[in-house]
Amino acid sequence: MQKPYLKAFPDKKGYFGKFGGAFLPPQLEEQFKQIEEAYLTIGNSHNFIMELRDIRKHYQGRPTPVYYARRLSEYVGGARIYLKREDLNHTGAHKLNHCMGEALLAKYLGKKKLIAETGAGQHGVALATAAAYFGLECEIHMGEVDIKKEHPNVIRMKILGAKVVPVKFGAKTLKEAVDSAFEAYLKDPVNSFYAIGSVVGPHPFPKMVRDFQSVVGFEAREQFLNMTGNLPDNLVACVGGGSNAMGLFSAFLDDPCEIYAVEPLGTGTKLGEHAASLTYGKEGVLHGFNSIMLQNKDGSPAPVHSIASGLDYPSVGPEHAYLSCENRTQVATANDKETIQAFYDLSKYEGIIPALESAHAVAFAMKLAKEKPHESILVNLSGRGDKDIDFVVENFPPEDYV
Ligand SMILES: *Cc1c(COP(=O)(O)O)cnc(C)c1O
Repeated sequence: MQKPYLKAFPDKKGYFGKFGGAFLPPQLEEQFKQIEEAYLTIGNSHNFIMELRDIRKHYQGRPTPVYYARRLSEYVGGARIYLKREDLNHTGAHKLNHCMGEALLAKYLGKKKLIAETGAGQHGVALATAAAYFGLECEIHMGEVDIKKEHPNVIRMKILGAKVVPVKFGAKTLKEAVDSAFEAYLKDPVNSFYAIGSVVGPHPFPKMVRDFQSVVGFEAREQFLNMTGNLPDNLVACVGGGSNAMGLFSAFLDDPCEIYAVEPLGTGTKLGEHAASLTYGKEGVLHGFNSIMLQNKDGSPAPVHSIASGLDYPSVGPEHAYLSCENRTQVATANDKETIQAFYDLSKYEGIIPALESAHAVAFAMKLAKEKPHESILVNLSGRGDKDIDFVVENFPPEDYV
């Protein structure tokens, strides 16, 4: 009998086909081996599983609902669109699902401090929340450019008790923040835990983050079956690094569902105008793992753009690279313009203001619904849009869209 997908992938070395692995500086090999072993033993222990289950229920407010978006479906005039409401998860997005798991593992390992980088600040806020919950120190590395841009999230992290370390070298954005956080971690790997913010990075993080996020998919599968008596015909999620998408998809990989990974097409198809790594990228190693990435001619990571800062990454989780190469998932896109329209449409027709990241998934689902009028579509609504309201209203006034 064939092994279920989740048991078979990744392999022992952290590979999904040829993608994944752990490309590490020698000083860190031992540390990552330890994290892997701890995850495989502690992470599967009864106490760990029960404690995480308790946190999900009483602190995060899970399960989040699956909701039939009737008015949006009728407006589009096609397939029935359902939403998995991760915007109702504590802190307003899916990211806390893996941050609580990572921080719990850090606690079991006796670590004192959580270290991470953040781009837009979403991962930083979720991790600072987890650190407050467990009483751990928290150090978030953030480029100076991003600190200026994402002021409210910087304030949130500080209120939550985290130390925000400004990164002042290079382009002063996410890539430099990764380097800076890694360096800080290297100084004291015994007492600190490096908490990666998506299904990216060296093994075991793509597997670990996927497993922590899979609660989204397993809840949704059962809820959808209870609501409709069937599995969804189609699944849709936006992909930055790919954690919310893997969270939803992972529970359905052995099912006959069509799966769509939606990438940000930004303002155009030229390099620098989008962050559609799977659509336009090629194989390469970045930040310690082999995947498909957007590269300049010399192989360095290309500049990226998306209206949603959470999707602004030149590579993608190795499991997404594998699943799309195997044609198990279809790669799709939504551009900035379609995304803004979907942001306003979902708000107006359902009273749900989505994060700009999630609005990419909604935008594509609206296109797909017209092509498949007799089917059902389950969208992962990864987060709420409060954080984006000022930006949207300033740059894309409601008069032009509502
Ligand atoms: C960070 C973020 C994303 C993108 O990250 P993935 O790892 O691709 O899920 C998507 N939606 C929201 C709301 C986010 O905060």
